Amino acid sequence: MICENDVKILREKQDLPDDKLKSLLSTDEFDLVLAKNADEVRRENYGSDVYIRGLIEFTNHCKNNCLYCGVRRGNSDAQRYRLGKSDILACCDEGYALGFRTFVLQGGEDPHYTDEVLCEIVSSIKKKYPDCAVTLSAGERSKESYKKLFEAGADRYLLRHETANVEHYGKLHPAEMSLENRKKCLFELKKIGYQVGSGFMVGSPYQTNDNIVEDLRFLQKLQPDMIGIGPFIRHSKTPLGEFENGSVEMTLRLISILRLMFPKALIPATTALGTLKNDGRELGLKSGANVVMPNLSPVENRRKYEIYENKICLGDEAAQCIECLKSRVKSVGYNIVVDVGNAKTKE
Ligand code: SAH
Repeated sequence: MICENDVKILREKQDLPDDKLKSLLSTDEFDLVLAKNADEVRRENYGSDVYIRGLIEFTNHCKNNCLYCGVRRGNSDAQRYRLGKSDILACCDEGYALGFRTFVLQGGEDPHYTDEVLCEIVSSIKKKYPDCAVTLSAGERSKESYKKLFEAGADRYLLRHETANVEHYGKLHPAEMSLENRKKCLFELKKIGYQVGSGFMVGSPYQTNDNIVEDLRFLQKLQPDMIGIGPFIRHSKTPLGEFENGSVEMTLRLISILRLMFPKALIPATTALGTLKNDGRELGLKSGANVVMPNLSPVENRRKYEIYENKICLGDEAAQCIECLKSRVKSVGYNIVVDVGNAKTKE
């Protein structure tokens, strides 16, 4: 049982001491009080609106070797692909007609996409669709690179910190990667003027509740516009492929806690949630999330962007996907809107 009074204080003060936060995480059952409070706060700020982002997985080449990720360079079974400018623009055309006003270009860290190549893609999208936001999710790059991409028109950048604890970070990543650089990138992105998204996996190998509290504290420091969390899902072709998947209920609990701590944040009900439970995304929305990110990638590439196994919606055309999502979102009392979907923090 959680303490209702703690939820009340968290809602009023958007904060709680570490031990109280930890007690909210001490069981992973779905908690109605927490979800109800989070839903009320989301409705105060966003009504019943749900923002959609069209996800374009533009490359699965990656120079990194993150221990949890199926597209890590060490996975020699992965069939690699890249999308060119015209492929990406075709995804945007399809998405725009379906009501998308944000395109998220996500990919591995692929040196093929130099600043020149990526800036050209971003500016072409912005030229064709000036009423849309372009979000990049392409990993760690230099400050200069982030600046050039921003000047080319990129509006937002997603870069999950993955875990705010150095030791834990070291257990999930190879030695050549560092939490310090990840954090540095996030603060640079913010300073340049991007709307920034961060976040972490829930139930990743070796994660403790103390780690999660550190994640929440880090997010308080960063004050991101968007916070993406999803359960860890094992991928058998990775070094962490034998670990248990993260818990859907713990993820829902954390979505609610995040909504109470960051009332105006954009919080997606992630595909990973929908992968572990058929109505996972609907439950995410009911727990305080206000964004969904359907896949706009060409169907022939979807299966290859396998960061974790058993990902949903692999065979659906974008149009089918959005129809299915619309009815799912409606079934729990919300509505997908045609809107660029900025965070209310920017108003
Ligand atoms: N290369 C980009 C995009 C990574 S994929 C970057 O570094 O930011 C987007 C997110 O998927 C990651 O940030 C990670 O949190 C999540 N992810 C990767 N592997 C996963 C897995 N096995 N289970 C669940 N989420 C995973």
